[in-house]
Amino acid sequence: MKGTYFLGAQKTPKFEVRDMEFAPLGEHEVLVKNMACGICGTDVHIYHGEAGSADVTPPVVLGHEFSGIVIETGEAVTTVSVGDHVAMDPNLYCGKCLPCRMGKKQNCEHLSALGVTRDGGFAEYAVCPESQCFVVNKEIDFDVAAMAEPLACVVHGIDQAAIRPGQAVLVIGGGTIGLLMVQMAKISGASTVMLSEPVEMRRKIGLEVGADAVIDPLNEDVRGKIREICGRDGADVVIECVGKPFAVEQAFYAAGFGATLLLFSVPATDATVALPLFDVYKKELRILGSMINPDTHQRAVNLINGHCLEIKKLITHAYDLEHLDEAIHMQMSSESIKVMVHPWG
Ligand SMILES: [Zn+2]
Ligand SMILES: [Zn+2]
Repeated sequence: MKGTYFLGAQKTPKFEVRDMEFAPLGEHEVLVKNMACGICGTDVHIYHGEAGSADVTPPVVLGHEFSGIVIETGEAVTTVSVGDHVAMDPNLYCGKCLPCRMGKKQNCEHLSALGVTRDGGFAEYAVCPESQCFVVNKEIDFDVAAMAEPLACVVHGIDQAAIRPGQAVLVIGGGTIGLLMVQMAKISGASTVMLSEPVEMRRKIGLEVGADAVIDPLNEDVRGKIREICGRDGADVVIECVGKPFAVEQAFYAAGFGATLLLFSVPATDATVALPLFDVYKKELRILGSMINPDTHQRAVNLINGHCLEIKKLITHAYDLEHLDEAIHMQMSSESIKVMVHPWG
């Protein structure tokens, strides 16, 4: 039973493949044979030792976007059975703290997560609480099933943005999240979905997965292009998926009257932008954040089971457990969209 342990951002090398040992399963625990685990921006932040959404205590097996097969179940497990294919919701909430009791579990004071604070998907096996295992139809590719986690985060963002039928949506950034947002915006009733993305390969995939038009923000005027594409002065909903101040500035620039701006990505903890106050006043802008996936994982799995999205096209590379460092570097490159780790090669 092998797992790739993260040893710490200061260490060289930062990863080591080790044998894992598991205690006998607790009554509500499940042993999962991990089949695929995506690399997330959060893993990249952790790799670089950046402060952000997660506190990590090495050594730990990272990887929180994973899917696999149920191998063994604890005595009291009732919702999954041996042989089931499952996609994990990594986030565990205490249910007792004030944010949890106020319906804000994403702000739980005792948030823990598989693949962040406890061992996760970059291993052959993982022990997961039953509550975190969501059954996926057997015909679904494990790579696609592993995308339930980022998709669940996107579903929460789409809930926040509350897109109404007939609106024009601009997605800024054509990475995994942006390309899921393009598709979810379309499903949610947008009449025109535009993608602003400087990398040509990503613009091309954007069109393949359903964007009505793409914009190259380095060589085209984003607001001028929006006018050309949908005939109005700015988008009704702008979804920012880059995490850099320039992208947030672009979001304000591209926002139309009454627009909603969803600032979805995880920025640096000290990132700021100058707020165009008169625009907020005159355009009556709504500015929203979105954090992780509170109560949206089942809906993400439903969308996957229902074949509602083009997900396979977003997966561009795959590595084994021995090459996790390379895999993380590929995830950082603009050559890739989503990089998967296949623990069994
Ligand atoms: Zn993630
Ligand atoms: Zn809590």
